[in-house]
Amino acid sequence: MKHYRKELWFNTSSRMELINITRDVEQCLNDSGIQEGLLLVNAMHITASVFINDDESGLHQDYKIWLEKLAPHAPISQYRHNNTGEDNGDAHLKRQVMGREVVVAISDAKLDFGPWEQIFYGEFDGRRKKRVLVKIIGE
Ligand code: ZN
Repeated sequence: MKHYRKELWFNTSSRMELINITRDVEQCLNDSGIQEGLLLVNAMHITASVFINDDESGLHQDYKIWLEKLAPHAPISQYRHNNTGEDNGDAHLKRQVMGREVVVAISDAKLDFGPWEQIFYGEFDGRRKKRVLVKIIGE
């Protein structure tokens, strides 16, 4: 069995950002030389997500508005977590809703996606360096 590991780094300019990382993940798959297997992509931080959905700008605005309604950033005093001195209580909740990781089947050396599926990094407490793990196993 072959295995491959890589970290992808991000430093977003805004607090919340959704980034299509499908091309980066495909590059990892090409570099791995794996033809058949499984690919895992997970955020390595508890205030960021990796998820699969459509690359459609209206949908991305909808996500941001919906998440901000579910867990508004301000006032920061509404979150017990922020009693620790942090201000990212909302980001932990947004991450939980959007998920930690995705697993994609690899068939014929390609991501075996359904129609319109793309992989995204969801940042909810950005403006600092954070990373995503890509792990691939197979033959
Ligand atoms: Zn925190």
